Amino acid sequence: MNTTDTAAVTTPNLCRCGCGDQTKTTKARYLPGHDARHAGQLARAVLAAQDPKQRATVRRTITKQLSPALQAKAKRMIERGQRIEAARHRTNVSDPS
Ligand SMILES: [Zn+2]
Repeated sequence: MNTTDTAAVTTPNLCRCGCGDQTKTTKARYLPGHDARHAGQLARAVLAAQDPKQRATVRRTITKQLSPALQAKAKRMIERGQRIEAARHRTNVSDPS
């Protein structure tokens, strides 16, 4: 089998969200809907990161890999998660039970 001149044309990319499936076309970077899923995964990774360096690394990944629209979506998810976390913290402080 000749792989030198056809591979680039016929081999789809692995979906960037990390699901392990291949995209439908060579130009696509994600399966349909998986770009939003990747934004959600990265937002959760930022929220879950305990180490500021790790959090900065995930934020850089968001900037590098996501489209501007998805970067905005990820940022909204991070901000919402941080508000929920802050509210939970306040609740714990005011209600020690
Ligand atoms: Zn995927």
